[in-house]
Amino acid sequence: MTDTPTQLFIGGAWVDAADGATMSVDDPATGEILCHVADAGPKDARLAEDAAVAAQEAWARTAPRARSEILRRAYELILERTDELAHLMTSEMGKPLAEARGEVAYAAEFFRWFSEEAVRIDGGGGVLPDGRNRMLLSRRPVGPCLLITPWNFPLAMGTRKIGPAIAAGCTMILKPAPQTPLSSLALAAILKEAGLPDGVLNVVTTSRAGEVCEPLLRGGRIRKLSFTGSTNVGRLLLAQCAEAVVRTSMELGGNAPFIVFEDADLDVAVDGAMLAKMRNMGEACTAANRFFVHHSVVEEFGRRLAERMGALVVGPGTRDGVDVGPLIDAAGRAKVAELVGDAVERGARVLVGGRTPEGPGCFYPPTVLSDVDPGSRLMDTEIFGPVAAILTFDDEDEVVRRANDTPWGLVGYVFTEGLDRALRVSERLEVGMVGLNTGLVSNPAAPFGGVKQSGLGREGGRVGIDEFLEYQYLAVPVR
Ligand code: NAP
Repeated sequence: MTDTPTQLFIGGAWVDAADGATMSVDDPATGEILCHVADAGPKDARLAEDAAVAAQEAWARTAPRARSEILRRAYELILERTDELAHLMTSEMGKPLAEARGEVAYAAEFFRWFSEEAVRIDGGGGVLPDGRNRMLLSRRPVGPCLLITPWNFPLAMGTRKIGPAIAAGCTMILKPAPQTPLSSLALAAILKEAGLPDGVLNVVTTSRAGEVCEPLLRGGRIRKLSFTGSTNVGRLLLAQCAEAVVRTSMELGGNAPFIVFEDADLDVAVDGAMLAKMRNMGEACTAANRFFVHHSVVEEFGRRLAERMGALVVGPGTRDGVDVGPLIDAAGRAKVAELVGDAVERGARVLVGGRTPEGPGCFYPPTVLSDVDPGSRLMDTEIFGPVAAILTFDDEDEVVRRANDTPWGLVGYVFTEGLDRALRVSERLEVGMVGLNTGLVSNPAAPFGGVKQSGLGREGGRVGIDEFLEYQYLAVPVR
């Protein structure tokens, strides 16, 4: 921890908050304070904005190849430091080290992907219908951006935004979640080492998100907000962006249905359920929230899932052999326990888990509930914990209707061996992504994002960079 930066990163320099404020970063496995980091206020945000605005013009003119090579170098540095970054992430966020290493690789991959995209920004042109006028199309960076990230994937949610912003030629201010600032600060140090010019990336850690971000969004100098977090906060930020007509990308919450048909391969379905439910201890926007299982296979599916979940080892993420770390904080754990309590009161059967353990740390056991009443609160709340809630269904129309009966639409999972049914049901689901006989959809080369109240825009894939680019059309009459 001794080498990890703990100050704000503004204009290429490490600085304290103007008023000297700091905030603690806690270890969710022990509840102990790991360290203190700078706690920025509005004045620091303005300095970061000044730095981003000042750097924008020169950065936009930088050769795409130069931007690409900075990203490529940063990708290599991240991989070289996998163990160091994984330990940092586990200590501030709790996920087991093996998962943290996986996230480091996933996060780095966004830099490699966008280093390749930086040199493929296209334009266009052509003869207009009158035959006389020509058009030239060029693509330009949207301008200084504000990037706001959540705590659940402390490194990857940052690189998924920073990668395309750098590739497109945008400058930026990153505001990470207050629970997990250290991964973002370590990332800033790596980008500086990789040659990123001063002012292109500024990192503002703060416990005063509203006070820091609102003036930036309303002020007219920030041209783009890229936000990942809950739907409620996203909605609030969209309203703030309306005033200065700030462009937005929104990666918001989910309420993923996980559908197991009677013709599914149950081994594949249970493997998929373990991934879709237990990645990141269930603290993922893509986490399966509602398991709809055909009545003819529900007993067998529930039994096998409970067996697998019950065999997982719970403990501090730094300990060897641990599969499930602590939840992010006491409030997160209390919410999970309340949702389980509500479901049980309404008649759910606990197949495994379901009891909050004693002792330090925010641990919650892997839990499987069956016979869940559709009116239970966890049906329309992101559980964000290791709890699988199983309901039954009888036919395809019914399950599609119930799966779509939610304001969210991020991802859905479908398990069936029938090709017709697989395609038919996937196309009928109101979601941005479908896992077909798989519990994992995230991939830097694929467009990630949702429909309905799960968000606007896509991150990653060929289209990820578009979120940070504008078209400029040049009208050229030829005499
Ligand atoms: P959150 O409470 O919405 O916070 C997300 C970020 O927004 C944090 O940095 C937070 O800082 C900041 N924030 C909160 N209020 C703000 C305000 N008024 N102005 C500016 N920033 C503000 O979400 P979370 O609990 O950290 O993360 C979990 C949520 O993220 C879940 O809903 C999950 O589904 C979603 N998520 C979505 C995706 C996706 O790609 N779709 C990926 C990961 C997570 P403070 O904590 O200081 O308020």
